[in-house]
Amino acid sequence: MILVFCETKDGSVRKPSLEALSEARRLAGAAGVPLGALFVGAATAGAEEAAQFGADVILKVEAPSLAAYSSDGYAQAIADAVQAKGATVLLAAATSLGRDVLPRAAARLGAGYAADVTGLALVDGRLQVSRPVYAGKAFATTQFETPVQVATTRPNIFTVTASAKAVSVEALKAPEGGFLAVVKEILTKGGGHVDIAEANVIVAGGRGLKDGANFKLLEELAEALGGVVGASRAAVDAGWGLPHSMQVGQTGKVVSPTLYIACGISGAIQHVAGMSGSKIIVAINKDPEAPIFKLASYGIVGDLFEVVPELTKAAKALGIGK
Ligand code: FAD
Repeated sequence: MILVFCETKDGSVRKPSLEALSEARRLAGAAGVPLGALFVGAATAGAEEAAQFGADVILKVEAPSLAAYSSDGYAQAIADAVQAKGATVLLAAATSLGRDVLPRAAARLGAGYAADVTGLALVDGRLQVSRPVYAGKAFATTQFETPVQVATTRPNIFTVTASAKAVSVEALKAPEGGFLAVVKEILTKGGGHVDIAEANVIVAGGRGLKDGANFKLLEELAEALGGVVGASRAAVDAGWGLPHSMQVGQTGKVVSPTLYIACGISGAIQHVAGMSGSKIIVAINKDPEAPIFKLASYGIVGDLFEVVPELTKAAKALGIGK
């Protein structure tokens, strides 16, 4: 069995989990093995949605002790589910939670673990994954040797594909509790914003913005395009009040949006490490020699303070973000 640990938010399965599930459906179909969608929590509202994305069985681990996320509690619940079902492949999306919990589950299972994979194949029952290495400069293909194989999938890489199946729902035994640590509350700054790691459109700004207040220009463009705002480390470190959660790059977030607009960003290797997987890259920079242009699908040599408002105007006129 292939098991996908799924996250829910506001009663729906999160999009990165649906991507992992859809890709797992493809693998399971090719290998002729069943696919399980695993949900953990006090109550797993929204779990049934997994039926529309190819799960053969929805597995629920429900207990009051799992109401708040805890690394060890969830890792134990997931590892127990893998063992109970005899699953040989365990996947989850490489979200903050997925990256926290899956290595812990893998350790409990004595399983090999690959993070943030961008390609998956099952060859004779062995999982082969490809993943970017050396800050995205090369791709490594890795094959597992352990009986259980665990990986997280990079958000925005795999396509969500609907494939409704007749599904059964099964409750599994929850761990007893007594976890080492329990997260009581998660405070999100400026709440309601889409995590840049999951965004489809990102308008990112760098030192060329000259001041935090000028990010308003990027917010307007992002809003007109239905996207979110990101930043280079230089901008985040400049004391302009930009949170680290906005930072794209080697020491920030890895993003793979459909559209990435880099405004006043030079294209340093550490920045590129976080955004080179973007499908379309637009660079706006007044220096025609800026390294970002080597990577860009479209380059605009110009002053961002003139170019960005023009783009916003055009996007609004076309009603793109609606
Ligand atoms: P700069 O390199 O200063 O570039 C600013 C650009 O703006 C220039 O190209 C300039 O021509 C252009 N510009 C200026 N004015 C205008 C204007 N009016 N209109 C248009 N263009 C204009 N960086 C990251 O981004 N993310 C990371 O995660 C990260 N991790 C790092 C980890 C390590 C260990 C190290 C050593 C560095 C890391 N860095 C990271 C820093 C990285 O090396 C660069 O310093 C940083 O990315 C530069 O940011 P920037 O492009 O905004 O600034």
